[in-house]
Amino acid sequence: MEFLFEKQLRSISREPRLSRFSAMEEADLSLPVMTEFQDEVLKIMVNRVYNHDTFYRRKMVETGLKPEDIKSLADLSKLPFTAKEDLRGNPWALLTADKKDVSLVSVSTGTTGGEEIYIMQTWKDCFINEFAAGTKPLINLGRGDICINALPYEMSSAGLSFHKVFMDICAATVVSVGKGGAYSTPEKTVNVMRDLQPTVMITTPSYAITLAEAAAEINFDLTGLPLKKIWLTGEGCSPAFRERVEKIWGTKANFFYGSLEAGVLGIECDAHAGYHIPLSQVILEIVDPQTGEVLEPGEIGEVVATPLLHLDSPLIRYRTQDLGYIDPDPCSCGSFFPRFFMRGRLVDHVTVNEIDFSPFYLEEFLMRLPEVGNWYQFVVQPGNNEQLKIRTEPAPGVEPTPELAEKLASRMEFSIGIPCEFEFVTKLPRPGSKTVRVVRQ
Ligand SMILES: [Zn+2]
Repeated sequence: MEFLFEKQLRSISREPRLSRFSAMEEADLSLPVMTEFQDEVLKIMVNRVYNHDTFYRRKMVETGLKPEDIKSLADLSKLPFTAKEDLRGNPWALLTADKKDVSLVSVSTGTTGGEEIYIMQTWKDCFINEFAAGTKPLINLGRGDICINALPYEMSSAGLSFHKVFMDICAATVVSVGKGGAYSTPEKTVNVMRDLQPTVMITTPSYAITLAEAAAEINFDLTGLPLKKIWLTGEGCSPAFRERVEKIWGTKANFFYGSLEAGVLGIECDAHAGYHIPLSQVILEIVDPQTGEVLEPGEIGEVVATPLLHLDSPLIRYRTQDLGYIDPDPCSCGSFFPRFFMRGRLVDHVTVNEIDFSPFYLEEFLMRLPEVGNWYQFVVQPGNNEQLKIRTEPAPGVEPTPELAEKLASRMEFSIGIPCEFEFVTKLPRPGSKTVRVVRQ
């Protein structure tokens, strides 16, 4: 595996106080070294925001904090949180560099809607500071690999971020097929794949299914492609849904967990046992969603991220609204990065009979029913909160009868412990943007 220009770029990019870390080889990296690195970056970041950023300076002054109060990671919890709402409609809020130095602006509205959030990146933050130590064995991509990048390239930073990592850092070949843009259709993407024979693809779980349907239309067998890996990102899914993707494509599918605002937060290894937290890229904390108190390893709470490589637009203690827990125990793959386990999102829980369910938990049981197709919706009905309504396509070749609906409903009820109702539909709309699995009726 070759990583182009890395050493040279690292040497000119880092803060002087971080140069000793830049010079390290992969083999020198360890948990204590990463902790020292995080301590150093945190101190630099806090100094920068206090002196160059009115948004964080005001937050720190309000809580009576001075930069010298933050000496190490142990002091991180003294710093105030940053919420999505703080960033909405406030384009330049996080910038510590000159406006003229901004080279890339991405836009996010999030799944919940509202005013836009702008992600500003200077050339330094966007490019040369993106080399995260310790992630190479997890990404495992290099010269000669042909990567289909089926993520959105417009507005969002998703497509461009992975484009940059695969092309500039891994020295792989990238095909910018995008996901549903002006020139990007599933049919065209399948043709490109047939012609170029990719070894890697990155996309969302639902778009992997959309592409597979386009391939089926022209009787193109995806399992004949030389794909060694599919990276899934942008949306979560259950292990059972992932298994469907792996079966259809005939290859392994691993997750990249991240947020548009905070970047990459977790990289899944082939053991499929949680997402490794790239400590060279981000500090993750798990906090109580109500009190904000930092929780212990193993306790489920909200994920709070402090990305480390964006010193020109720092984001401190960003509340992602995702839920999960951290497992510091070693992984069978050998990576020393601790692992994060996703447990859904704060905003899209389904409540039935006064019990909260993560859609991924419900999906896990649904996708184990072979008669159920790959497209479905959980329908929340105000005033009828005693049962879960599931609207779904039948699997190809399955006859959608009332008897089958009854049978599936009782199997789901057996699995999740609440009454269910099935409604079969011929075809649900294919989403142009993020897939909506929970609808309100
Ligand atoms: Zn692992």
